[in-house]
Amino acid sequence: MTKTQRTRTAAVIGGGIAGTVTAIALREAGIEADVYEAYDYSADGVGAYLTVQVNGLAVLRELDLLRAIDGLGFDTPRFTFHSGAGKLLGSMDTTGSRGDGLVTRTIRRAELYQALRDEAGRRGVRIHYGKRLASYGDRPESYKDTEHADRATARFTDGTAAEADVLVGADGLLSRMRTLIDPGAPRPRYVPLLNTGGYAGIDVGAEPGTMHMVFGREAFFCYMAAPGGQTWWFANVPQQAELTPAQLAVANEGWRDRLLRTFAPDRVPATTIIQATGDILAPWNTYDFPRVPHWHRDRMIVIGDAAHATSPTSGQGASMAMEDALVLAQALRDHPVPEAFTRYEAARRDRVEKIVADGNKKSGEKMPGPVGRIVRDAMLPLVFRREARKPSTAWVVDHRIAWGATV
Ligand SMILES: Cc1cc2nc3c(=O)[nH]c(=O)nc-3n(C[C@H](O)[C@H](O)[C@H](O)COP(=O)(O)OP(=O)(O)OC[C@H]3O[C@@H](n4cnc5c(N)ncnc54)[C@H](O)[C@@H]3O)c2cc1C
Repeated sequence: MTKTQRTRTAAVIGGGIAGTVTAIALREAGIEADVYEAYDYSADGVGAYLTVQVNGLAVLRELDLLRAIDGLGFDTPRFTFHSGAGKLLGSMDTTGSRGDGLVTRTIRRAELYQALRDEAGRRGVRIHYGKRLASYGDRPESYKDTEHADRATARFTDGTAAEADVLVGADGLLSRMRTLIDPGAPRPRYVPLLNTGGYAGIDVGAEPGTMHMVFGREAFFCYMAAPGGQTWWFANVPQQAELTPAQLAVANEGWRDRLLRTFAPDRVPATTIIQATGDILAPWNTYDFPRVPHWHRDRMIVIGDAAHATSPTSGQGASMAMEDALVLAQALRDHPVPEAFTRYEAARRDRVEKIVADGNKKSGEKMPGPVGRIVRDAMLPLVFRREARKPSTAWVVDHRIAWGATV
């Protein structure tokens, strides 16, 4: 492959959201894509859920993938915000101003991954499980000056390798590909919040389709009515120092009691929901990346969380991963490497870094001190009134990418 030749094959590392959608989009672009996923086929478990916003769903629509997630999860077109005292601070539409029929959807993570992988398989993408990227191989001497000279090799921990014109690192927050591209790449930044959540077998009368967000006295709580009389919820608990895996395991032992104590002062149904939850998800740390300086080198590139993880508060990580997938496939469809990578980065960097910064700022609102809490609860109704008139996040959710456009 010479500098002017188009990409014909790609090895996509990571079978999460970014990896699977990228492989599907690359196939649409006429590029053969294989996915290499570190875990086994059945490793996803029940796990948490996530909300795919309309800009992400628009990508799925562009790739004719909406049918693949039909019947999964439920629509969540509205947020309401409450103080710990139960006072309604404001409400917001989550669907943006496009009015193009898309509605924000909340889906179990494992079900979303599975649906996307199944559809990728139907479209001819091969997904190889148990393949953990270890290193990036140089071309053997014998290949120099042959048609394979510019191809790249991914080497896996099981001793096997895969060769392709490009390697796409969609291997998430702890990306190995990121450090192969830049050994000095920053590590994720700790955001001082613990995450948790669960599925409660109780109907607390929450309005269907609404994510009820509570800025509690000690911590943040969100709950929503799910079909079948369940309530899905998550909580963010301030935690100044980053906990090690061992400390997280210790925290998990008394986790339900700690959560019940944390939300006891709030006049919302948080404690009822927590008590009605069988298995509460063990606490985990929150991270983001203000900036990953190098997204690509040679024939390798990182996308999705590997390039720009955002704190979950933005609710945009999955949608950004989907946008990345579409834009990278467009760029590789229309331009040779490295121009394709440069154009991809020019199209994506400003947008994703602004979303990460916004997510970090909003995470800060979840952990004010006692004075900050009073100011926040006084200010938020004004903020939400202004938001209802002119949403400041319209640029995020109204973003649309036409598959036919050139990057
Ligand atoms: C608590 C929490 C809540 C969230 N809520 C939301 C939400 O409501 N809405 C939203 O849009 N986003 C949310 N996000 C963010 C969202 O989950 C991520 O942004 C999204 O999953 C990123 O997709 P990805 O494909 O880049 O990474 P991932 O989905 O993490 O996929 C990476 C894949 O790569 C694999 N992998 C890792 N290392 C290797 C390796 N060395 N070799 C091969 N494979 C490897 C992993 O096994 C995994 O399958 C949340 C995140 C968290 C932590």
